[in-house]
Amino acid sequence: MSEAKTGRAWIELNMDNLRHNYEGLCGLLPDNCRLMPAIKANAYGHGAVAVARELNAMDVKAFCVATLHEGMELRKNGIKGEILILGYTHPNEFYLLRKHRLTQTVLDNDYAKALNGYGHRIHVHIGIDTGMHRLGERCENIDNIIMMFKYKNLVVDGMFTHLCASDSMEKPFAEYTNAQILLFYGVVNAIKAQGIKCPKLHIQSSYGVMNYPELKCDYARVGIALYGLMSTQEDTEKCNLALRPVLSVKARVSAVKNLTAGEFAGYGMEFEAPCDMKIAVLSIGYADGIPRSLSCGRGSVLVAGKKAPIIGRICMDQMSVDVTDIQNIKQNDIAVIIGKSGNAEISVGDIANKVGTISNEILSRLGGRLNLVCKNKKN
Ligand SMILES: *Cc1c(COP(=O)(O)O)cnc(C)c1O
Repeated sequence: MSEAKTGRAWIELNMDNLRHNYEGLCGLLPDNCRLMPAIKANAYGHGAVAVARELNAMDVKAFCVATLHEGMELRKNGIKGEILILGYTHPNEFYLLRKHRLTQTVLDNDYAKALNGYGHRIHVHIGIDTGMHRLGERCENIDNIIMMFKYKNLVVDGMFTHLCASDSMEKPFAEYTNAQILLFYGVVNAIKAQGIKCPKLHIQSSYGVMNYPELKCDYARVGIALYGLMSTQEDTEKCNLALRPVLSVKARVSAVKNLTAGEFAGYGMEFEAPCDMKIAVLSIGYADGIPRSLSCGRGSVLVAGKKAPIIGRICMDQMSVDVTDIQNIKQNDIAVIIGKSGNAEISVGDIANKVGTISNEILSRLGGRLNLVCKNKKN
């Protein structure tokens, strides 16, 4: 581990855990269904290039991202295989799809016309809206969908839909999901009835794979589960795959100091020492993606296997913790913000719970200022 990367604040990736999750997820799916990892938003904060390289080496041949520029970053770093852009690309940038051999989602019929009108062949997957009402051509517009297969400049490699309630197996949600699945296969059958060759099909994301593993698809677009989590801590705990978190976040102790009872620390005189105590200043802050709402004791970090509560307001680049009970802590020591220290652990799900969001948001907001260190590998 080079000091340059672990000098201030960094993300540590455990690539063995990535492989473990990958193999576990593959094991859930039917034999000819492959993972199409979702590595959008910088691979949910993990570093898209590092994760994609590792997955390429595990024989992953298809990825999905949210944006054109995410796809371009992967290509510029030598990532191989199909890269599907799930979201909107502006027509002025269609040439970049071709230049970088990226595959674009057809968002609806108008978008199909625009893509076709670009005048050069573009590889696409057709998005079908079966009830989320976000992107995709409405599944009832069969004529439009059939037409998309006939545009001369569209090379249709795939067709997919997205489930919007597959995270719950309670009755109304399971019914909605099953209806979405039926609607999708209705479109598939209508296409086949026209003698059109069926392209690659995909429906599930992480919760879809967990709750509906038996679906007969060519791909599953798995994001959060591959990183070793479900969206909530509760779901991660009850998940029957023993997922392992891939990411940890660590930071250096930049100073240790003693406070006398009645002294203040941090902005706004928010923290007043209730007794004589010892605090550590850490070289990480909210600009690195640590939610500011963990301030004033709502969150903790781990130092030497012990919990150290956050005191005062988290600053942009720094924060302070109470280390009164931690012996021998000194400048340059390492604090764990997310991950394990000794027998203690702070999970992304714990943090998400505290700030009222899901793991996905905590991960994807981790800042670009954090360095990336891959464990189990030479750096
Ligand atoms: C983000 C995304 C996924 C991956 O979702 P996870 O819940 O993280 O597995 C799959 N499909 C689409 C369309 C997405 O936007």
